[in-house]
Amino acid sequence: MKLRYLRNISSLAVVNEKCIGCAMCIDVCPHDVFRIEGKRVRIIDKDACMECGACKRNCPFSAIEVTTGTGGLVPVLEEMMQKKA
Ligand code: SF4
Ligand code: SF4
Repeated sequence: MKLRYLRNISSLAVVNEKCIGCAMCIDVCPHDVFRIEGKRVRIIDKDACMECGACKRNCPFSAIEVTTGTGGLVPVLEEMMQKKA
């Protein structure tokens, strides 16, 4: 069974103009989040991303943006704080 995280909260993004499709991010991602389509990588399963940062650290062209170390908790906490305010 594939591990799922909270829906629509991962901070993961690819800067398409920087990506050359080397597939390094696919090699290091533990959750099959990416796929090569054409000559660039595409995010195919964003909700499977646990924000570990391996793809960002290993991309030779700095084409990946992700906020690491929170496991998707930041937006959840922000929403909770807004409801309390
Ligand atoms: S590692 Fe970077 S340049 Fe290579 S396919 Fe992934 S996003 Fe594109
Ligand atoms: S942050 Fe980790 S889980 Fe998310 S896409 Fe990158 S390597 Fe995969």
